[in-house]
This record gives sequence, structure tokens and C-alpha cells, in this order.
Amino acid sequence: MRIIGLTGGIGSGKSTVAKLFAELGVPVIDTDEIAHALSQPPSPALVQIAQEFGQDFIEKDGSLKRARMREHIYTNTEAKTKLENIFHPMIKNIVMQRLDQLPTHTPYALLVVPLLFETNTYANTIDRSLLVDCSIKQQIERVGARSGLKNTEIEAIIANQHPRAERIQLANDIILNVSTLAHLQSSVSSLHQRYQDPTCRFT
Ligand code: ATP
Repeated sequence: MRIIGLTGGIGSGKSTVAKLFAELGVPVIDTDEIAHALSQPPSPALVQIAQEFGQDFIEKDGSLKRARMREHIYTNTEAKTKLENIFHPMIKNIVMQRLDQLPTHTPYALLVVPLLFETNTYANTIDRSLLVDCSIKQQIERVGARSGLKNTEIEAIIANQHPRAERIQLANDIILNVSTLAHLQSSVSSLHQRYQDPTCRFT
């Protein structure tokens, strides 16, 4: 089974693309969704966060105080690493379990990893990388419309990710999400044909 690592900058359209592949019957494993689930009780990550960061980072309902944690790790690299050391191994374990559980005849599966190129965690797990790409202006517009974050806040997140040119250079395949959703759907369909064809030898 091929494993395709789907990545892209914030707001580039990863979730939209993943949904289109899922509609074609492709199994999708999303590391962001797993991280989100691990932030809700009951979760071993929350137990460890309470131990290492203190109960102040846990809401009354037992979930993670996401905004507080985001703020805390923003300027504190040590805390950021500590948090990543809690989440990343747990996420990877779940990913590997889910991949193991896929039926053996599955031609390929999609693994969504927003920071695929920034971290090396899945380099040995995936067979190919697929980048969803759009302009920085479009990223800002889409994230702004969705979240209400200020342009400066979105620009700061973008600055923390790999530069667009570097991602383009590292990717095996690229979906340009610069036009309509119908256009995106047709790009997904043609990649789907290639990925599910066992005779297709990628160069
Ligand atoms: P994040 O990195 O924040 O998780 P993402 O890369 O998963 O974001 P999406 O959530 O798929 O990106 O897309 C961001 C927003 O842009 C969504 O509201 C989505 O509906 C919209 N969007 C994505 N692609 C297009 C498009 N081609 N045309 C119009 N809207 C789009």
C-alpha cells in the first residue's frame, strides 16, 4: 500500500483536498484531527500535560486550555519542545495503529501532516509527499475569512512554517489550489488515478 503524505501551509486547502480524496473512497488519517482528539478528555496526553505543565493548563471539563497553551509556548521554545514530546509520539502511535488496521488490498492511503517537511517524523512512513499550494495572499484571505484572525497574526504563523519555495522544492507532487473548488476536484481525480494504479511507477 502506498502512503501519500499530504501537506501545505496554513489555509492552503489540506482539509478540503483530504475531503475530496475521502469522497473517492481513499482512507484518510489526519494528524491534526488526532491531536485535537488527544486534547479532549479522557486522554493520556492531558494527564501528562497536567503533570508537567500544571493543572492551570486544563479546563474545568478536563480539556486542554488551548489558547493559554498556545500563548505559553509561543515565546518559550523549551515548553514547546516539552509539549511536542508529549503529543508527537502519541500521535505517531495512533497513526501507525490506523495504518496497520487498513485492509491489505487498499491501494493507497492519505496521511495529512501539516508540518511534514518541518519535522522529520513521517519521512520513513510515507512513499510520496503531496503539497497543496496557493499564494500567501490566498492563505491570508482564507484563514482570515474562516477564523477572524488578524492579517499580522496569520503572517506570523506563515513565517513559522517553511517558505513556500522550499516546500515546492521538497514535494513529489503538487496540487495548485488557486482556483475554484471544481478545478480542485479535477486535480484530485487525476492524482487519484495515478496513485491507485499499481503499475504507475513514479519518477
Ligand atoms: P489549516 O492549515 O488551517 O488546517 P487547511 O490547509 O486544511 O487549513 P482548508 O481548511 O481546507 O485549509 O481551507 C481553508 C479555507 O479555505 C476553508 O474555509 C476552505 O473552505 C477554503 N477553501 C479552500 N480551498 C478553496 C477554494 N479553492 N476556493 C474557495 N475556498 C477554498
